[in-house]
Amino acid sequence: MDAHSPRTSPDLRRGADQIAPDCAGQNFYAIDRGLRDLLAHYLTPDDFRRLEPHFDRLGALAGGRLDELARLADKHGCRLHTHLGETKDEDDYCLHHFGCRPVDYLEELGWLQDRVWLAHGVHFNDAEVARLGRHRLGVCHCPTSNMVLASGMCRTKELEAAGVAVGLGVDGSASNDNSNLMEGVRHALMLSRLSYGAANVTHLDALRWATEGSARCLGRDDIGAIAVGKQADLALFTLDELRFSGAGDPIAGLVLCGAHRADRVMIGGTWRVVDGAPLGVDVARLRHEHGEAAKRFLHNW
Ligand SMILES: [Zn+2]
Repeated sequence: MDAHSPRTSPDLRRGADQIAPDCAGQNFYAIDRGLRDLLAHYLTPDDFRRLEPHFDRLGALAGGRLDELARLADKHGCRLHTHLGETKDEDDYCLHHFGCRPVDYLEELGWLQDRVWLAHGVHFNDAEVARLGRHRLGVCHCPTSNMVLASGMCRTKELEAAGVAVGLGVDGSASNDNSNLMEGVRHALMLSRLSYGAANVTHLDALRWATEGSARCLGRDDIGAIAVGKQADLALFTLDELRFSGAGDPIAGLVLCGAHRADRVMIGGTWRVVDGAPLGVDVARLRHEHGEAAKRFLHNW
């Protein structure tokens, strides 16, 4: 069983200055109880290392008990994840309320350690990039979200050179709108070329972030590459659409010509997508239920 990011958010703050809305989250005790139940009844210790309490943005850090959660993660042997360095207002919020920058606050809480991975990582200065590398954290670059929200550009090359595990993600659907990681690979290539120059970033860099780098972020050595001893996780694409016509290198073609839909996906040796459709999912019903849920959400906003 693979389980990442149980949705939790002990955000106790209220008021107009908060940088993220209140979330329906769990408190510290609920998280501890949930983790212990999972370990006792469902998961082996090896599975458990894949679990991560997950917090949305720095807003969740305030009023939370994240220092205790770092100790809890040590106790249970699981990883920790939050979104950090996404927007400038996080810096301002942190300076105003805690008198320090977000990375300093992470250190204060005991979160500057190699079982932590961060989403975004846009607004880190040189010294912070070096510190994150020294402590072997992971940073998940979310290029599509960063462009949609005009958040800025993740310093992928500097972070990777400093020793940070750089992965690739899509962020939440609210700031991405299609959660398509292959599109994210292409966006990572284009956005990083804008930062570092066209000759200094290739499709192989972007694919490395999406595969090996993302596995390192998650603390996984059994995924991220096609090799003996790894999980049989495969995404297969056909190259018969017009967009790929004339492409020489098929791997470069996937990224540069914009592959966006896998024909086959295998997860852990089992086919999960066949002929472009997810198996065991009633897509029409799912769309209907999601549409209704979205209408209720907008009605209650
Ligand atoms: Zn985010």
